[in-house]
Amino acid sequence: MDHVTDFNYFNTLLVHSVGSNIGPIAPTIVPSAAYGYIDAQEAEGIFAAEINKPLYARVGNPTNAKLENIIAQMEGGIGAIATSSGMGAIAMVCTALLSVEDEILCIGGFFGGTYSLVNETLARFGVRHTRCDVNDFAHIQKVLQRGIQLVMFESVGNPSLSLPDVQKIIDLCNQYHTIVMIDNTATPLLLRPLTMGADIVVHSSTKNISGHSAALGGIAVFRALREDNEKLLHEKYKAIHKIVKKMGKKALIPICKKRAIRDYGMTANAFGSFMTMIGLETLSLRVQRVNQSVEKVALLLNEKLPKTVSVNHPCLPSSPDYARYQSDFSDGCGPLLTLNCGTKKKAFALLNHLKMVIQTANIGDNRTLALHMTSTIYSDFDEKACQFLGVDEGLIRVSIGLEDPESIAEDFLQAATHI
Ligand SMILES: *Cc1c(COP(=O)(O)O)cnc(C)c1O
Repeated sequence: MDHVTDFNYFNTLLVHSVGSNIGPIAPTIVPSAAYGYIDAQEAEGIFAAEINKPLYARVGNPTNAKLENIIAQMEGGIGAIATSSGMGAIAMVCTALLSVEDEILCIGGFFGGTYSLVNETLARFGVRHTRCDVNDFAHIQKVLQRGIQLVMFESVGNPSLSLPDVQKIIDLCNQYHTIVMIDNTATPLLLRPLTMGADIVVHSSTKNISGHSAALGGIAVFRALREDNEKLLHEKYKAIHKIVKKMGKKALIPICKKRAIRDYGMTANAFGSFMTMIGLETLSLRVQRVNQSVEKVALLLNEKLPKTVSVNHPCLPSSPDYARYQSDFSDGCGPLLTLNCGTKKKAFALLNHLKMVIQTANIGDNRTLALHMTSTIYSDFDEKACQFLGVDEGLIRVSIGLEDPESIAEDFLQAATHI
């Protein structure tokens, strides 16, 4: 079935769930770090998670809770946990679920921070990983068969722009009782992996969800587990069986709170969550606009740039993912496209002649952004890693914003005359 996003539905949902009809219309900011309890019995109940009231801001506050409820509804999940950044959300899930000698399967290219988390930091704590190409299903199945604990992939490779067969990978993970986490940062609203059977969705809300670059933040959203918890009660997850048996279908939330948030403190703050909601209320409108503009800009640049610069976006018939884009991402695959200038020198020349586009290490901003890859985010990575991540020395990543798409294309075309 072709996927179609109901942008009108999400427009209404988001403006009315961020805003209130009665009392203050904008979300309230509750900055208090601590909360007074009525009596000792109430304190006991709150700590036992039998009374649903704020305990202490490291493990949640009312402003975060509002954001968490809205994003959970938007993603079709049972609940969410807001974190200090997108990396905070990914680190929270990994450290909550994994123990020494567990193994992660990483499918496809990865955002630089996620790659180093897995490759360096989790490796230092004895968590192993294997990497597979997005389309190598025989390899994926072989790794799943040996009983690994976590599969992670990005809805759209950043910056490789490879499009995974999301449903097929989720189905395989479910078949082998393996928790699957999808980084949906590039495609909020366009893809809803929890409704397709994924267990966890994470976002860097710093990007598209905020849009304004005024709030660093992340969020993890969880699906309801089946009553019999067939997956989490598997032998390979025995470190969390106690919580799963006690908490039932919502278990992933207390698992992350007790095993990561409480002990590492990668919690969101109230002001950040407030700013994130100010962006979130216009997300549907912005996603629709940006995804139409990306296609326009990609087509214009593909037609008009000199042949020494190649344009990569799956809406172009020359892309290897063109068919999957048409069927699974028919409303778009997010704000990114890439330009390959062949050499670093040419890439720098193009970037340094841009007049409107901003050079920065962000994506999903309301303004169009561009960045050279191997000299910045990927400068610490060796050639083999860059090859796996789809990054080479001529590559510029572009994140399309809300400006007039013809003006965006015009800026790249004039800059390209200088290389
Ligand atoms: C930016 C980004 C992250 C990390 O998010 P931060 O908010 O910067 O910590 C993770 N995944 C993807 C795909 C990203 O683009």
